[in-house]
Amino acid sequence: MNIADSERIATVLKDLNYKKASKIRDADLIIVVACSVRQSAVDRIFGLIPKFKNLKAKTILTGCVLNPDKEKLKDKFDYILDIKDLNNWYKGSQYPCDYLNIPPIRERKFIANIPISSGCENFCTYCAVPFTRGKLKCRDHNEIIREAKDAVLNGAKEIWLLGQNVNDYKSENTDFPKLLKMVNDIPGKFWIRFTSPHPKDFSKRLINAMVSSHKYGPYVNLPLQSGSNSVLKRMNRPYTYEKYKKLFLEIKKQFKEKRKEDVFMSTDIIVGFSGETKEEFKETEKAFKELKFDMAYINQFSMRGETYALLKMEDTVSKKEKKEREKKLTNILKKKSNKKYIGKILDVLVLEKKEDYYIGKSWDYRTVKFKSTRKNLIGEFVKVKITDALSFGLKGEVAKLIVLLGPTASGKTDMGIKLAKEFNGEIVSADSRLVYKKMDIGTAKPKVLKGIKHHLIDIVNVEDKYNVALFKKDAEKAILSILKKGKTPFLVGGTGLYISSITENIDFPKIKPDLKLRKELEEKTKEELLEIYKKIDSAGAEIIDTKNKRRLVRAIEVAFKRPFFRETKNAPEYDILKLGIKVEKQELEKRINKRVDQMIKMGLEKEVNKLSSRSKILETIGYREWKEYKGNEEIKERIKINTFKFAKRQITWFKKDKSINWIKSYSEAKKFIKKNKFD
Ligand code: SF4
Repeated sequence: MNIADSERIATVLKDLNYKKASKIRDADLIIVVACSVRQSAVDRIFGLIPKFKNLKAKTILTGCVLNPDKEKLKDKFDYILDIKDLNNWYKGSQYPCDYLNIPPIRERKFIANIPISSGCENFCTYCAVPFTRGKLKCRDHNEIIREAKDAVLNGAKEIWLLGQNVNDYKSENTDFPKLLKMVNDIPGKFWIRFTSPHPKDFSKRLINAMVSSHKYGPYVNLPLQSGSNSVLKRMNRPYTYEKYKKLFLEIKKQFKEKRKEDVFMSTDIIVGFSGETKEEFKETEKAFKELKFDMAYINQFSMRGETYALLKMEDTVSKKEKKEREKKLTNILKKKSNKKYIGKILDVLVLEKKEDYYIGKSWDYRTVKFKSTRKNLIGEFVKVKITDALSFGLKGEVAKLIVLLGPTASGKTDMGIKLAKEFNGEIVSADSRLVYKKMDIGTAKPKVLKGIKHHLIDIVNVEDKYNVALFKKDAEKAILSILKKGKTPFLVGGTGLYISSITENIDFPKIKPDLKLRKELEEKTKEELLEIYKKIDSAGAEIIDTKNKRRLVRAIEVAFKRPFFRETKNAPEYDILKLGIKVEKQELEKRINKRVDQMIKMGLEKEVNKLSSRSKILETIGYREWKEYKGNEEIKERIKINTFKFAKRQITWFKKDKSINWIKSYSEAKKFIKKNKFD
C-alpha cells in the first residue's frame, strides 16, 4: 500500500514541476511515506531524521501515521500530510475526489500495485489501521478496471489488488470475486495477485473465482495471526483455528482438483501477543506443524498507540521470549523441503538482479534465483529449470533452446536429427507446411526420423486453418514437454515467422477477419495487393510470398489494424542459441533442382490430385504450379524457379537477424553448442 501511495505522490510532485533528485543532498523536498503498523517501521523513521540535518530540503511526513507518532514526529518534519488530503494538491486534468484515483507513476512498470480499498473497520485489537486509515472505503470498480487496463497497456506483468481487507470489497453490485473476474478478463499476458484477505470474509465464491481466473497465480496469503483460539479471541479475530484450518484445506483442495496445481500458502503470525502463554504459543507451533505453510511473515507483538491493546492490555511477553518464539516458528518453516521442485521448469517474473543472480517470483510466488548471460531480464517472464532447493526459495538456470534454421534444401532435417541424437534432444518442427497431413512429397517431409521424436509434423488436416499464432501455442507446449523430460529442445525449420514467434516471443494480435475488407481485397490481383501492402508495411512486403494471395490478404488485414508485429515482441522465455546453415546460392540451386526432380519421380502429381482442391494450402509452392501451368516439364521448371526464389527470400529474412551463428557443417554446429554450454 505504501508503494501505491508513493506512486500517487510521484504524480502530484510531477504535476507541481518537481523532478527526481539523484542524491538526497540535491533534493528540495523529501517526503517520507510512513507505516505505523509496526514499531520497527516507526523506529526506522527516527533513524532517518539525523540524515536530514544540514539539508536544504523541506521535509514532509505522510502515509500511515498514528496520532501519538504524529505528536512525537511533528517537530522533526516541516509538514505532516494526511495522505487522504493528497488529492487537494493534484492539479491533473481530471480532478479526483479520492486520492487513490490519482493516476500513479509506477516505480516499476511491470508491477501494478492497485489499491481497491483503504481503511478497515474490523478493529483487531493489535492493529493501528482503523486509526490511521479510517473506515473502509472502496474505490469504484470502473476506476480500478480503468487503472488495471492502463497498467497492462503500459507493460504491467503483475497486478496486485491491494486493500487492508480485500475480500470485504464492495462497489455497487461488484464484490471482490466479481472484481477479480473482471481484472482476469482484461486482455494481455499478466498475473494477478491480491493482499490481504481476512479469513472471516473468505467465501466459496471467492475460491471459485480464484481457481477459475486463469491469470490468478496460485498464491494465497491467509493471515492466521495465532493458532490459539483464546489468543484469537483477545485479538478480536472472529474465527477459530479449526475454522481457519477448514478454509485453508478447502483452498488447497480446490486448486488441486480444478487447476491440478499446488497453491503456495503463506500466513501472517504475531508472536508474544498480550498475555500469550507458553501453552497458547504451543498451539501456534502445532498449527505450523499441521498446516505446513510455504511461507510465514512472523511479527513480534508491539503495542501501537491508540489501539485497543494499548488501552486495555499489557505487553506481557518479554522481548527475549518473543524472539525465541519467532525462531521456533522459523525453524519449523525451514524444515519444509523444496526438493520436489528440482528438475521442474517454472515460469518466473524477474524482479531484480543482485550481484550475479537474477531474482524473481514464480507463478506460485516462490522466490527463484538464477544466472543468465542475458542482460535486461528485469521485468520479463522466463522459464527457469530448478537445479537446487534453498531453505526459503529455489535456485536454477534459464531453460535452453537450440534453434537450427536455414533455407529450403539446406540440410536442416538431417543435421537436426544428428544434433538431437548427440545432445539428448527432441525436435520441434518450425515449418508452416509440415504441420499438414498428406502433404508429404511436395513438402519434403522427413520420412526417417532415426529414433528422434519430432513434434508439430502431421498435426492438421489440409482443409483446416493453421497459422503462426496456433503454431506459437503448440510449439511452446512441445518445448515445455521436452524440457520437462530433462531433454534439449531443438527448433528446426525454415519458416522465419514461425521461428521468430518463439525467439522474439511475439504476441499475436487477435485480429478478427474483416469480411468486407477481405471481399474487396480478394477482387484485386496479387500485384495490386502487393502494392497496397508495401504502402502499409514495406518491411513485411520484402519477405512475404508475393504469389500467395491468401497471405497477402491476411497481411493487409492485420497491417491495417496493427503494424506488422511491431511493438509486440517480448524477451524470449528461454536462453536461445541460433544456428543457421549456410549454403552457397549455386549449391542451393543445385540441391533444389535435384530435390524437385526426386519429388516428381516419387509421385508429386498424384499427391496434388489426391488433396482437396478447397484447401488454401495448395496455393503454396510445389502444389499451385499444377494448376497454373501445363505440361510436366514446365511445371517442374516452375517449381524449381519458385522454390529457389523462396529460398532466397528465406535467406533475406534470416540475414536481418544478427544473433544467428552461421555454420557450414555438423561439426561446426556441435562446437558452437559446446562452446556456449548448451550441451
Ligand atoms: S482486518 Fe487487518 S487491517 Fe483490519 S483491523 Fe484487522 S489486522 Fe487491521
